[in-house]
Amino acid sequence: MVGIVEPLPHKKTGADIFKELEFKGTKRFKQAPSKCNCCGKKDSIIGIELIGAKEGPLYWECELCKERYLKFTKQTTIKYLKIASELWIDLGGLENICEQLPN
Ligand SMILES: [Zn+2]
Repeated sequence: MVGIVEPLPHKKTGADIFKELEFKGTKRFKQAPSKCNCCGKKDSIIGIELIGAKEGPLYWECELCKERYLKFTKQTTIKYLKIASELWIDLGGLENICEQLPN
């Protein structure tokens, strides 16, 4: 029997994901900002929680314009993103196995 070896998915680092999230600035908000600095809308900021990374919000995001705000330092955010990314890759791997039909 010949197996097909699929290339491993590109493993993103926490820093890669951090870059993709495009946080503007380094100002940190312990609580969700009451008003979005980008679009000016009030009460539009929601906490984004990453399953497996941390209890509670890891960062904030404006529902309207998707502007993102840091809750923790860059280093801490990257650390949690890394934990979450490793979990996502595990889940993705399981999914791929389920999708493979037997020959
Ligand atoms: Zn906004």
